[in-house]
Amino acid sequence: MLEKLAIEGGTPVRQKLLPYGRQSIDEADIAAVVAVLRSDWLTTGPNVGGFERAFAEFVGAKEAVAVNSGTAALHAAYHALGIGPGDEVIVPAMTFAATANAVLYQGGTPVFADVERDTLLLDPADVAARITPRTRAIAAVDYAGQPCDYDALRALADAHGLALVADACHAPGANYRGRAVGTLADLSTFSFHPVKHLTTAEGGMITTDDAELARRMRSFRNHGITTDHRQREERGSWAYEMVELGYNYRLSDLQCALGSSQLKKLSGWVARRQAIAARYSEAFSSSELLSPLRVQPGVSHGYHLYVIRLNLARLIADRAAVYSALRAEGIGVNVHYIPVHLHPFYQQRPGNAPGLCPVAEAAYHEILSLPIFPAMTDDDAESVIRAVGKVLEAFRKN
Ligand SMILES: *Cc1c(COP(=O)(O)O)cnc(C)c1O
Repeated sequence: MLEKLAIEGGTPVRQKLLPYGRQSIDEADIAAVVAVLRSDWLTTGPNVGGFERAFAEFVGAKEAVAVNSGTAALHAAYHALGIGPGDEVIVPAMTFAATANAVLYQGGTPVFADVERDTLLLDPADVAARITPRTRAIAAVDYAGQPCDYDALRALADAHGLALVADACHAPGANYRGRAVGTLADLSTFSFHPVKHLTTAEGGMITTDDAELARRMRSFRNHGITTDHRQREERGSWAYEMVELGYNYRLSDLQCALGSSQLKKLSGWVARRQAIAARYSEAFSSSELLSPLRVQPGVSHGYHLYVIRLNLARLIADRAAVYSALRAEGIGVNVHYIPVHLHPFYQQRPGNAPGLCPVAEAAYHEILSLPIFPAMTDDDAESVIRAVGKVLEAFRKN
C-alpha cells in the first residue's frame, strides 16, 4: 500500500521543515565574538591575522587572505592573476553565478565548460576544447564538496601556461589523492556563508603558496592601499599610498573571531557530513528511481551538498513535482544549480546559447540536493530517506 503524499493531503513525514543546510553556533563561538566587542579593534585588528594563520595551517597553505565574502575571494583571486579585458577564464556551467560574475568584475570573459555526467565536476577534456589564445585561467569548482580532477587540470594549465583557480567554496576539509583542498590550485577560494561548512555570517578566504599574490590580495581588499589603519596607528603615521584601484573587502574582527572559533570544529563537522552521506548512499544504493553522484576513488569528499539524480525515465513526475512533494513532506530539498549560462543575464551575452554545455543542462532537470549539515540527527537523516522513498514510490512508472 502506498502512503498518501502530504501534497495530496496525507500526513507529512516531518512536521517542521528540515533545511538543506544550516550553521552550527555554540557558546564558545558567542563568547569569542563578545570578547571582540569588548576590545579595541572591531576591524583590522589582531583577529584577522589570527584567523588567516589558523586557516592557512588547517589547509596546509603558506598564505591565507580573509575577505568579506566568497564572491570577494573570487574577485581578489582574478585580480591578483591580472585578469582583465580580453582575457578568458574557463568556468564550469554547473556552479553558483559568482564563479563567472567575478571574471566580469575584472572586465574579463567567462567561458563556460561542461561537466562530467556522473560527478558534475569540470570535465578536463571539455576544458581543453575551449582553450583559445586569450585563455588566462581555469577556475575549477569542487561541486558538492568533491575535489575536481586536479592532476588533469594542472597538466592542462601547465601545458597552456594558464593559472589554476579552485573555487573550493563547497570543499574545505576535503582532499584529493592525499592533498588538502586549499593547496591544489594556484589560488583557492572559500565562502563562510551560513550554509557553508563554517560561517562568519558573510565572509571568505583565499589560500595560496605565493607570497606576492597574497600581498596583492591584501592591498586589493583595502582599496589598493599599501598599509591598513592599525599598521599606521602602530607606526604613529598618517601617511599611506593608494597604488591601485581596490575595494573595501575587509572581514571584521568580530567575524574573524567567529571564524577561528568555528574552525576548531571543522574536522568533526566534515566527519559528520560524511557519516550522513554514507547513510544516504547506503539507503539509495539499489534504487532504480534515483542515483547519487559518483565519488571518485582517492578523494575524501567534503559534502557541502548531497546531490541525487532522479531517473526520470522510471517516474511519472518531473523534478519540479518531486521537489514540491518533498517540501510538503517537510524535507527542504533544493536545486544546485541552474547552469549559469542559462540565466537571463548571460543569455543576453554572445556565445551562451542553450546547448553550450549539454551535460550540465541535462543534469539540471534531474538533480535535487538533500538536507545535509552537521547538526542533523540520525533521525533527521532517516526522515529524509523515508520521505524520498515515499515520494518516489508514489511517482513510480508502472
Ligand atoms: C557560496 C559560493 C560562492 C559565493 O560565496 P559568497 O560567500 O556567498 O559570496 C561562490 N562559489 C560557490 C561555488 C559557492 O558555493
